[in-house]
Amino acid sequence: MQNLESMVRRLVSIGYIKSERVKRCMLAVDRARFVPERCRWEAYLDRPLPLMCGQTISAPHMVALMLELLDVEYGMKVLEIGTGSGYHACLLACLVGDGGRVVTVERIPEVHEYAVERLKRCPHSDRIRAVLGDGSLGFKEEAPYDRILVTCGAPDVPPPLLEQLADDGLMVIPVGGTFFQELIRVRKKGKKIRKERFGDVAFVPMMGKYGWR
Ligand code: SAH
Repeated sequence: MQNLESMVRRLVSIGYIKSERVKRCMLAVDRARFVPERCRWEAYLDRPLPLMCGQTISAPHMVALMLELLDVEYGMKVLEIGTGSGYHACLLACLVGDGGRVVTVERIPEVHEYAVERLKRCPHSDRIRAVLGDGSLGFKEEAPYDRILVTCGAPDVPPPLLEQLADDGLMVIPVGGTFFQELIRVRKKGKKIRKERFGDVAFVPMMGKYGWR
């Protein structure tokens, strides 16, 4: 039986966790609190786990990789699209610290409810706002965001997300097909957009206006 410490130690040794702050937060947020009861024994294994309505919680190495690419700093405002279990949102809330804020959007009501329940157990829940809605539209009310994390696969970068990204902001998003995508990091500098690629990934599809129909 693995535990949280051994999961994190392994992610450090295989190079997915690179920074001290991501390591600290992955140790501070217990993944077991977010996975469904029936697969709790698998919580510390490096594999994606089923949620409900055909949705999944990403594997820990993917969670770590995305957090490292996002380069979240203390006090930032972060938008997440695809709340799922709430695990990633709770980690983001740890990274932004007490001066920061996390808005996370989920489109399936049952999944949103599941996450709201789990996020009550997140030690940083006071910094998190969980919204039910179509995240391909972003969440204009609290824009701009210093960082945007998308945890579902989009056909392309949704224009509203690009608009709501702050100048000098970063977005990490899987872009491509409904099964496989490429992990992309978008950097916005004035009117210039720079894209970097980080390999093939497999996320559940982003549905909605700027997602898949
Ligand atoms: N970050 C999550 C994993 C997310 S799985 C975690 O830590 O557990 C991807 C989620 O994206 C699913 O719950 C799915 O319902 C959601 N999703 C798909 N399209 C969406 C959209 N347009 N807006 C918001 N959420 C969406």
